[in-house]
Amino acid sequence: MFNVIGTGSKGNCFTFGNLMIDLGLPYDRIKNYLGDVTYILLTHRHNDHLNLTTLRKVIANTNATFVCGWWLKEYLPNDKVKIVEAGRNYELDDYRISPVIAYHDAPNFGYRIMKDGHKHFHITDTATLDGITARGYDSASIECNHCEIRARELIQEAKEKGEFTHLEGAMNSHLSVQKAIDFCRTNGIKNLIPVHVGESTKSEVLKALRIWDENLK
Ligand SMILES: [Zn+2]
Ligand SMILES: [Zn+2]
Repeated sequence: MFNVIGTGSKGNCFTFGNLMIDLGLPYDRIKNYLGDVTYILLTHRHNDHLNLTTLRKVIANTNATFVCGWWLKEYLPNDKVKIVEAGRNYELDDYRISPVIAYHDAPNFGYRIMKDGHKHFHITDTATLDGITARGYDSASIECNHCEIRARELIQEAKEKGEFTHLEGAMNSHLSVQKAIDFCRTNGIKNLIPVHVGESTKSEVLKALRIWDENLK
């Protein structure tokens, strides 16, 4: 049910049935998905999640209602926005959603989404999942931004050469594949859809995911 239109630091957009999550891609890449979309859940203000040019076109061309935290209110028309709070439940037609606080360098939400007994958990751009549970969820789309082990090696190498690396910042505001897998293991989630995988440790991230997948069988 969860569909990735695009993900990564260059742009994120997903659908779950009639819900869309984030508008971080150019309008042309998402326009064919908009026909069935009734609600668009937004997470945070970074351009790879909310592209303002795309937003303008979506507002002009659809009747979708935007769902978001107070921090995005100023970008949205009053009659098309529903401001939501963490920990509360909201009925959106046949869907029930509940926002979850993500720990990022900007205010940010993840979302619990329920439809016809299927429970999905979506979160990206968060340093940690401490204090969050999603026990027995059927599926989860979770950020697998970097491999902790490889990232530390690369940071060390950069330091020795006196070079800058964005990985230090990434480790403080994004989730590692190890934490995403731990979360799924602890919560009994078997269907993990990795999102927001960074380029610099991508092969190590994919390897960790492969091993996790094989262990599930
Ligand atoms: Zn992002
Ligand atoms: Zn972000």
